[in-house]
Amino acid sequence: MEPKETYSDDFRGHLSTVDEKGKRIWIYPKAVSGKFYKYRKIVSYVLLAFLFGMPHIYLHGEPFFLFDIIHRKFILFGQVFFPQDFHLFVFGMIAFILFIVLFTVVFGRVFCGWICPQTIFLEMVFRRIERWIEGDYIEQKKLHKANWNEENKLLKKVSKHIIFFGVSYVVANTFLAYIIGSKALFEIQTDNPLSHIGGLVAITLFSLAFYGVFAFFREQVCTNVCPYGRFQGVLLDSNTVVVAYDHKRGEPREKNVKERSSSAGSCIDCHQCVLVCPTGIDIRNGTQLECVNCTACIDACDDVMEKIHAPKGLIKYASEKQISNNEKFVFTNRMKAYTVVLCLIIVIFNVLMLLRGSIETTVLRARGQNFTIMEDGRISNLYKYKIINKSNDEMPIKLQLVNIKGQVEIIGVGDSIMLKPEQKLEGIMMIKIDSTQLSSRTNGIIINVMSGDHKLEEVSSVFMAPRHHKASDKK
Ligand code: SF4
Ligand code: SF4
Repeated sequence: MEPKETYSDDFRGHLSTVDEKGKRIWIYPKAVSGKFYKYRKIVSYVLLAFLFGMPHIYLHGEPFFLFDIIHRKFILFGQVFFPQDFHLFVFGMIAFILFIVLFTVVFGRVFCGWICPQTIFLEMVFRRIERWIEGDYIEQKKLHKANWNEENKLLKKVSKHIIFFGVSYVVANTFLAYIIGSKALFEIQTDNPLSHIGGLVAITLFSLAFYGVFAFFREQVCTNVCPYGRFQGVLLDSNTVVVAYDHKRGEPREKNVKERSSSAGSCIDCHQCVLVCPTGIDIRNGTQLECVNCTACIDACDDVMEKIHAPKGLIKYASEKQISNNEKFVFTNRMKAYTVVLCLIIVIFNVLMLLRGSIETTVLRARGQNFTIMEDGRISNLYKYKIINKSNDEMPIKLQLVNIKGQVEIIGVGDSIMLKPEQKLEGIMMIKIDSTQLSSRTNGIIINVMSGDHKLEEVSSVFMAPRHHKASDKK
């Protein structure tokens, strides 16, 4: 039998998960095993342990990670960030996006297959539970077609969905713990429900959303919703390393394993790579937007190659150019340059984080106020101050004039403040300066923010005085 060229452009015209009538085609991916799946399992369980464990780790009484969007407080690796650190946040976001773009241009969708929580939860948690209850893809299809009174269908489906909702509930609680902290979450769960209606509603909505995504919506998130997936078309090029079928070696396909013609390629058209694909595509059609680079087809095909005593790697991590030119993987100059840029971004971000002060002070002249001439001849100005302690330490704070002699009096407090960890203090302060030291109507002043003998920050402002001051003037 002659090998045949089975390539068809048909796949371009429709989605692999939608039929001609626009109805969803449910994907029943075959269970896979192999080298990559083993490594992915290890990576996934480490990441899951990290995800579930982190909200319970506290440093100096504060969570190690917190994304409290409600109170605009963020903690990363024990470092507290306030809205005032917005510039860092913006730089962090730009660095993150640049990192993802450069990383994707060079290494393709490694993130999707190995790190994305959607893939990890779906493939390593929910599908594994599903296979444990319903069996592998053939049993699952059979169960789907069976009547509700056959094959223990009702029991299997009900127990699967109860477990799915239970896992979704745990996932929802974990995500909520990242937003409000695990202690606050524990309080919501154990306290009188009537006192935490908002929190309980949030938990329920989060749980339903996760349950809906992992029980029903599934791969549609990756193929139709995720913006990162949509960007692949512009990010990938012929040099990008992706999960790819070696068409040079594989074509033309020939099913007959025993008597292969001399012109036959290595692909035996067994469809194992298609059966294991969680997005229902055929990688032999080339790189497609639906491919999340999960490596399942690599493992499936390697298994087939092993059985027919052919070299592994018919489907592998490779760029289109490598396959077309029959080249081995090389770390090209382009990849090196991108990697250097990636490292630079990470270094700059870390330097900015390290240089970030433990205190943030703002001193602004009180609106609508000019100056007051005091009875002893000194001139006073009113200011609004805001001091934020971004550290986890208690700090005694003093404000000192630097370029001019005078007194700083914090109204209602005196001349020194004790700032608690992460405390934000706002109020009014008065600066008094002897008129003899003031040369003009507008005088620039510099204030040092001190903690003991240690200068934490320097802020500047303006001090108003009469142009030609006489002690008898009243303002
Ligand atoms: S084509 Fe292969 S790597 Fe891509 S999603 Fe399907 S199984 Fe995963
Ligand atoms: S698993 Fe390998 S041999 Fe089988 S159809 Fe896919 S590419 Fe061809």
